[in-house]
Amino acid sequence: MNGKVAKGNSMEERFSRQQQALLQVSRLWCELGSGADPVDAMRIVTQTAVESLMVGRASVWTLHETDPQLLACRCHSASGSPLKSMPETLAATAFPAYTDALDRNETVIWEAEPALQGPLGQLMVVPISCLSQRIGVLCLEGFETHRQYFPDELSTAHHLANILAAMLAAQQRRKEAEEVEEQLRDEVTLWNNLLDQSWDGIVILEVDGGVFLANQRYADILGYSKEELQGLHVWDWDVNYDREQLLAMLADVDEMGAHFETRQRRKDGAMIDIELSNNGCQYKGRKLILCICRDITERKRTEKHIHRLATMDSLTGLANRREFTRVASLEVQRSKRHGNPLSLIMYDLDHFKRINDSFGHSVGDDILRAVSEIARVTVRKTDLVGRWGGEEFMVLLPQTPLEDAALLAERFQKALDDHDFPSVGHVTASFGVTGLRPEDALDSLVLRVDKALYRAKKNGRNRVEPLE
Ligand code: GH3
Ligand code: MG
Ligand code: MG
Repeated sequence: MNGKVAKGNSMEERFSRQQQALLQVSRLWCELGSGADPVDAMRIVTQTAVESLMVGRASVWTLHETDPQLLACRCHSASGSPLKSMPETLAATAFPAYTDALDRNETVIWEAEPALQGPLGQLMVVPISCLSQRIGVLCLEGFETHRQYFPDELSTAHHLANILAAMLAAQQRRKEAEEVEEQLRDEVTLWNNLLDQSWDGIVILEVDGGVFLANQRYADILGYSKEELQGLHVWDWDVNYDREQLLAMLADVDEMGAHFETRQRRKDGAMIDIELSNNGCQYKGRKLILCICRDITERKRTEKHIHRLATMDSLTGLANRREFTRVASLEVQRSKRHGNPLSLIMYDLDHFKRINDSFGHSVGDDILRAVSEIARVTVRKTDLVGRWGGEEFMVLLPQTPLEDAALLAERFQKALDDHDFPSVGHVTASFGVTGLRPEDALDSLVLRVDKALYRAKKNGRNRVEPLE
């Protein structure tokens, strides 16, 4: 501390200048806030250092981001002269005072070699570090030799370096927070896009039936906008269950979830079939129900069509022989198991060949359709009429003893006899009727009803022949 006292650097002047400088730097930092660019922070600090410590030039050298052998000049300010242009980077080893200050984490006063003293003079190198992270150095150039720095000046230089470190750390934290925020925003965008572009409708319900979130696909399935859906409840579109049932289902659903089919009403009133998988999950302390919905209306329609083709006779719309046999087998088994009566009627149109021969095959087809319609309205809901083949038909009568079945057959035979077919006039049929015996299987039952029908034909046609 035996150096020269710089001109205008009396104690009062120094104290007042340094106090002003520290106040100013604090005010500027507050004004800039953590949103400021790091270079702004460096500019404030270097300018304040030049003004308050009466040095010729102040610069900030930071450790190079990628090359630890280099120091990069991020900012410098100057006052007075002489000035020398500043390089962008320095080899860390070229200025041992810099690395020395950083390594020791202490301020270093360095006197240039006599040959260099002209332009450089004396240097004060103050380390800048924050939370033991080395950032760089604040370098103050006196442009003179052996300047005496007072303890308060060293202390101010140290304060300035600390303030800069705090500014840079705040900026770094803000940058990192922004990066995290951006990453979160990107992820939210990604999930929203994936959600909306999903092939399945996705709706997240509250336990009170309200909509927490619906994707675009689900809105499209129901014909609403996403915003419209937000104001609805699940009972506004699901028609398979009432409000109470739906509330109970929402309360019941757990992480395992459920898988079922339901029917829903679109905004335009059209009914659609939905295959639904749901499961409950917790979100911010409350239960939400995730429902994945697939529109299976078209699939259901196709399935129904295929089922009809497989089970229905295309000419008369009655059950075909395969379907009739399937249902009859089940009913025979069930009747035997419960000891219930069951009867079977077999009828065959009389002299149908003549109708075809006289009026043509297509008129014959019309008669088959018309007779089937009469059968449909004559039998009870629980009975099943099937086309056995050609102009031969069967009626299955569960829970019906032979006598009742014979009465129904007679009613049918009379209805047919009384009916006037516009194109051909009179059409009759012969009926065989039999009842289930304990030892019967479907085959033996069919064999017996066929025998009964044969008798009806033999005994004059247009009649009913029961056979126990
Ligand atoms: P029966 O009183 O002895 O039963 O005399 P039928 O002429 O009815 O008996 P038959 O078995 O000799 O002839 C049955 C006729 O039914 C022959 C066949 O051409 C006709 N037939 C069978 N299936 C169809 C059909 O899908 N459409 C039409 N138009 N005729 C059919
Ligand atoms: Mg016939
Ligand atoms: Mg026949």
